[in-house]
Amino acid sequence: MDLLGDVRTALGSALGTVAGRALDFALPAQCAGCRREGPPLCADCLPALEVRLHAHPGVPIGLPADIPPPLLQLEWCAPFTGVARRALHALKYDGERRLAPLLGAAVARRWARAGAGGDLLVPVPASPDRVRDRGYDQAALIAAEAARRLRLPMLQALERTRSTTAQFDLDRAARAANLGGAFQAAPSVDVRGRWIVLVDDVMTTGATLAACATALLDAGAIGVSAVAVARER
Ligand SMILES: [Zn+2]
Repeated sequence: MDLLGDVRTALGSALGTVAGRALDFALPAQCAGCRREGPPLCADCLPALEVRLHAHPGVPIGLPADIPPPLLQLEWCAPFTGVARRALHALKYDGERRLAPLLGAAVARRWARAGAGGDLLVPVPASPDRVRDRGYDQAALIAAEAARRLRLPMLQALERTRSTTAQFDLDRAARAANLGGAFQAAPSVDVRGRWIVLVDDVMTTGATLAACATALLDAGAIGVSAVAVARER
């Protein structure tokens, strides 16, 4: 057993956490959308997270129309552009955790309007490496806030079985193949009989969400829908 290695790892993650907290305090409080000093999203930028709030449920004309099976429903709050893109980037890469409640609130409001059902929220898990580096899983933070607002339980019911190639390097078919078997239901949780709503930060083709849905159905879920903060075309 490499005790020294373990100690280094533990120390590294402890320092990472401390550094992360220090960074939280050091960050100038500014809007992720327009960089003005103030709240994490200012009153002018916040509405950009909800441009689809009143849109009809379903996929509008001009986007790939099919909801990737086996998903029952697929919803999102905003296109992955402008403020939404910058806010998600700030949460994911700049440690701006204060954005998670705002993004989670947008997810909850969209789902409350457009969602056809579901009794359990499950975040799409980030890779363990990224969670270790960042100190948190952004989709889990978003899902926790959405669940609180929707008064539904949230469970981190999925785990990654292996790391996948970065999806942006792949075309649509390759993305699906890359993800086959990449997720499984966590052995410690019971999703039998549940209608699950997956929560993610950004979706592109929906291949990740579909792979997660397959894993949950394999574990006994009766249906899986999905909602993301933003959709990339
Ligand atoms: Zn702003």
